[in-house]
Amino acid sequence: MNHFEKESLGLFPTPMYRLPNISRELGTNVWIKRDDLCGVALGGNKVRKLEYLLRDAKAKGYDLVMTTGQAQSNHAMLTAACALRMGLACILVLKKRGVTARKGNQILNHLMGVEVRYLDTDSYEDIYREMDRIGTELGRKVYKIPCGGSNALGTLGYIDCMGEVADSGVHFDHLVCACGSGGTAAGCVLGAKLHLPETKVMCAMVDNDPFEKIVPQLMREAAELLGVQVEIPVPDLLEMWGPGYSIPSAEGNEAIAMMMRLEGIVLDTCYTGKAFAGLVRRAREGFYKPDDNVLFIHTGGAGGLFAQDWEKEE
Ligand SMILES: *Cc1c(COP(=O)(O)O)cnc(C)c1O
Repeated sequence: MNHFEKESLGLFPTPMYRLPNISRELGTNVWIKRDDLCGVALGGNKVRKLEYLLRDAKAKGYDLVMTTGQAQSNHAMLTAACALRMGLACILVLKKRGVTARKGNQILNHLMGVEVRYLDTDSYEDIYREMDRIGTELGRKVYKIPCGGSNALGTLGYIDCMGEVADSGVHFDHLVCACGSGGTAAGCVLGAKLHLPETKVMCAMVDNDPFEKIVPQLMREAAELLGVQVEIPVPDLLEMWGPGYSIPSAEGNEAIAMMMRLEGIVLDTCYTGKAFAGLVRRAREGFYKPDDNVLFIHTGGAGGLFAQDWEKEE
């Protein structure tokens, strides 16, 4: 396997343990991997990707990074936090849709003093063009990190996470993660193929992009990067976006309340609440056996939770 250097930014391995109350409630053994506790800002899955991406930026001599996402992007906030720690300048070029008010992750962006520019577009092509334009205007080379850090190099982060799970020695029958831009799902599915061959991975789609194409494509590119010959698995994708990307769903909000009430763990409305709702739905449909071990990957997102107006959707 080819080896890629990564920056040490998070506290890994993250904690992993069984959730006794949720397990009782759902009639199977539910475990959690706390990537929300990885030690940068409010934690989250982007840190594993950024360890590779920002090391690559530094190694190639860039001193300015840019990334994008929606206004409350956890990924953008974490990119800024990690880049600044490494002494790299950072500009966030975000989509104007969503909550642009100084709430949630925008508070953290403000505290970091990171420059945020909004573009009134729904096309990431427009955004990447704008990044190039800003770079030319500033006369600086720009290391562009795609939305969610989901490219082949970023995908290596969750292949490593599956290695961490394998190192724990606990056997998992099932694993559940959220799928928002595809890199985490691709890393989990390919990483499970390499490190946890008996574990079935379910990816809860929180956006209606064509993940049946995106996830296998990222897996192919990551496998090529690593120089491994594997048959690319067909991902098990579950529709969980509900009313739409980053719009809370009733099922997701129930799952968030269950996790908070029974285990004292904070999920978010955009990703982890909907992903956990997918696990709950499958448990209630009898998809898991009573003695199965089911691992939920907590990918973070607390910042976005606090940008939601909870009264409005009653
Ligand atoms: C970005 C994000 C995801 C989705 O991960 P992708 O790799 O973009 O699919 C899941 N949970 C949280 C909290 C996120 O911020």
